[in-house]
Amino acid sequence: MSETRIAVITGAARGIGAATARRLASDGHKVAVLDLDAEACRGTVDSIVSAGGTALAVGADVSDEASVLEAFEAIVNGLGTPTILVNNAGIIRDNLLFKMTVDDWDAVTGVHLRGAFLMSRAAQRHMTEAKFGRIVNVSSTSALGNRGQANYSAAKAGLQGFTKTLAIELGKFGVTVNAVAPGFIQTDMTASTAERMGMAFDDFIAASAAQIPVARAGQPEDVAHAVRFLVSEEAGFVSGQVLYVAGGPTD
Ligand code: NAP
Repeated sequence: MSETRIAVITGAARGIGAATARRLASDGHKVAVLDLDAEACRGTVDSIVSAGGTALAVGADVSDEASVLEAFEAIVNGLGTPTILVNNAGIIRDNLLFKMTVDDWDAVTGVHLRGAFLMSRAAQRHMTEAKFGRIVNVSSTSALGNRGQANYSAAKAGLQGFTKTLAIELGKFGVTVNAVAPGFIQTDMTASTAERMGMAFDDFIAASAAQIPVARAGQPEDVAHAVRFLVSEEAGFVSGQVLYVAGGPTD
């Protein structure tokens, strides 16, 4: 097993973040399970601890600067120096452009882009001092364009530019920065999309799987596995990349 690191996973109360936290914990890392509400992190933390791992619940809003700084203080005090960061927290506020409100735009870009910026800026101090770091930003196939998601696709495409720029700036300190870009993954987020479209989730999953070359919907563990690779010691020569985790080619 590679060296034990302190890993921070945002939006880890459920979905892709929870699966990633469990995956990194089972690889031997100590995990800060960060989400809006510390209580909501309990399930993820308990499953890690009962499997023999170490996890700390951290309540924070990634889009709020003071909240992010407090979270890092709690992580450093509770677990140690964080050298792995997965910027996974996310929300959707889908609407066609002519119906999209300024609040819809600001909320989505605030969590994904401002959140990743604030978290990465706070984390890089620890990583550059340690001369080791791994940042993974969770983008999306929606970065390539998706009807009804002008805010979300702009944020997810923005994250890809952010990823490449941080990779250039931080590489000389032993810090790699990459993105994973999932396609359809079966989580509460896609369940809420099905609900908004007036479709049963099972029908939505089946319709999505029919468009996917590997003929199934993605699971949170599919993304967690890709993140696991990118944060590994051995992936130190992979940086500034966007790894699509979508069951097939994307363009
Ligand atoms: P999810 O089940 O909705 O989980 C997202 C988590 O992020 C929730 O626990 C949410 O907390 C938390 N969160 C939201 N705003 C936050 C904030 N300001 N600060 C801290 N935590 C916050 O979603 P998911 O499907 O696992 O998605 C995880 C990531 O993958 C997102 O970035 C998403 O855009 C991306 N992604 C998902 C898919 C997919 O098909 N599911 C595809 C491509 C990319 P609350 O519950 O309290 O809101």
